[in-house]
Amino acid sequence: MIPRTQATASTVESDLPAWQQSLRNVVSSLEELLELLELSPELLDPRVADCGDFPLRVPREFVARMRPRDPRDPLLQQVLPTAAEFEVRPGYREQPLEEELFAPRPGLIQKYRGRVLVVTAGSCAINCRYCFRRNFPYASQHPWAGEATAVVDSIAADPSIREVILSGGDPLVASDRKLAGLVDRLSEIEHLDTLRIHTRLPVVLPSRVDQRLLQWLGHTRLATVVVLHANHPQEIDGEVGRAVSRLRGTGVTVLNQSVLLAGVNDRAADLITLSRSLFAVGVLPYYLHLLDRVQGAAHFEVATSVALRLVEEMRQELPGYLVPRLVREVPGAPSKVPVTARSGL
Ligand SMILES: *Cc1c(COP(=O)(O)O)cnc(C)c1O
Ligand code: SF4
Repeated sequence: MIPRTQATASTVESDLPAWQQSLRNVVSSLEELLELLELSPELLDPRVADCGDFPLRVPREFVARMRPRDPRDPLLQQVLPTAAEFEVRPGYREQPLEEELFAPRPGLIQKYRGRVLVVTAGSCAINCRYCFRRNFPYASQHPWAGEATAVVDSIAADPSIREVILSGGDPLVASDRKLAGLVDRLSEIEHLDTLRIHTRLPVVLPSRVDQRLLQWLGHTRLATVVVLHANHPQEIDGEVGRAVSRLRGTGVTVLNQSVLLAGVNDRAADLITLSRSLFAVGVLPYYLHLLDRVQGAAHFEVATSVALRLVEEMRQELPGYLVPRLVREVPGAPSKVPVTARSGL
């Protein structure tokens, strides 16, 4: 006979949506990652054994898209901690965007007119080594710790806000119950017309786009935009394509933003293929970000002159709607700042 407690635990486990089970089962051991990719453990620098608050974290669905036996794989490069992260370089800061200065209350960030960003979750399915939030104080920025009401009230009190952006972390690591509740309350605010979701989950864990998600996403009166985050064409496979189709089936507009990363996507051919692969599954490129100068990510930086040349090559090869806008975040600027040969950024 199975003891009752054990039976209960396994029932609860199988009741979890598939994506939540995948989230519990991400790869977080460096040794296991190398073993899955048939790579030698000697690749590991002993200094990365402890990555502190920003450990290795990658869904198995994403690992499956990495090329085995290739230490330079562009997907692996995005998640593998390396000793280069410990280099301290001048100009690279713990919190490059000074977001704490733009947080009117915990969980809300307003930098631009008409749009407000809600820190909807404090974690991601994947830890991208170049992430500007790698040192972010999520513990104090998390709206769900009793702050959701305050966040909604403060948006309701400001009629200049038209668009709410759910961000994080990754907002889609939150449960559908929580998200549906938040979106319901936002939908009641008359001066809002648009809901935007910035998420990498449909790319790194496409099973996240399930019926429960489509249910609330398809039923808000707000016009809805989902901005994905993919950096390399190898990230876009059939599962991702089907997840995008499901999203678009609810009437959502799907865009993509990328970060320009040395050793990942700093070749024109890859960026061109990325745009085409995105379009093939129904996604338009939106932004190509220059790296935010966060400490630990300097080795990913691509020089502005190189970035400009890459975008010029894209422009020559692609229709205008497949060329993303090259931008950089500048603390205090009223929008993302376009990078041009003349802007001196
Ligand atoms: C990027 C960002 C936005 C959205 O900017 P768009 O140019 O509208 O995409 C809004 N708020 C914050 C804090 C941002 O960082
Ligand atoms: S998914 Fe986005 S927010 Fe999360 S670690 Fe990656 S870059 Fe950072």
